[in-house]
Amino acid sequence: MVPASDATARIIADNWRRVQDEVVSACGAASRAASEVRIVGVSKYVPPELAWQLASSGCGILGENRPQSLWDKFEYFSQTMSGNPAGRLAGPTQWHLIGHWQRNKVRRTLPMLAALHSLDSLKLAQAVSEEAQSQNLQLPVLVEVNISGDASKTGLSAEALKAFFDRAVGLSGLQICGLMAMSSLTAEPLAARREFEAVRQLRDKFQENYQGQVQLDELSMGMSGDFAEAIAAGATLVRIGTRLWRGIL
Ligand SMILES: *Cc1c(COP(=O)(O)O)cnc(C)c1O
Repeated sequence: MVPASDATARIIADNWRRVQDEVVSACGAASRAASEVRIVGVSKYVPPELAWQLASSGCGILGENRPQSLWDKFEYFSQTMSGNPAGRLAGPTQWHLIGHWQRNKVRRTLPMLAALHSLDSLKLAQAVSEEAQSQNLQLPVLVEVNISGDASKTGLSAEALKAFFDRAVGLSGLQICGLMAMSSLTAEPLAARREFEAVRQLRDKFQENYQGQVQLDELSMGMSGDFAEAIAAGATLVRIGTRLWRGIL
């Protein structure tokens, strides 16, 4: 694969700087410390060499929604790192899976992951738990909630969450650390804000009900079009794609 051109590299570095600035502003507007919110750079739109470019601009967390694409990029990063001992990255890249994880892909993907945002069934939780124990790993996971009630959206309904938590909190090998959600595609900013607030309230409720069993510190919500609303509602992880690839795609 060919490395990114200088012009492309500059655009990506500029986009990354702007997105960081915008996230800092959104934190300020919400009277929150900028350190409370981490940006997951969603690299699913681009080939590995452009994801690498984003990482070398300073984005330390990359999100992919398909295991296969995550494998490809993980492999490219490993090779690029090893062919480049001085290292152009300030630190290791954390890979976050933000889309559906087929159970037959758990074994291969697990050792590459720093976190899973999209835990969406008890069956998957059980498969991850089993595999994590056999690989002697502990995976931080967020439970995906379908807050919009939109049938086309993935995630557990708010009603299904309790039954899920009852069974999942006891599983070894996974550490349930928060909730993930997407706003409705059609949501206006105010409506998106209300949906994100509802997710935070769910988190607060489950934190209270399962006190001592889980520590739900993370809220993964907000994408290119609505991260300011998500930050106002308490997001700790924003998943930003399109905005980072402006001028490239
Ligand atoms: C693609 C994707 C994103 C990024 O969305 P943008 O609107 O491109 O910023 C965030 N979360 C998930 C789950 C995605 O699949």
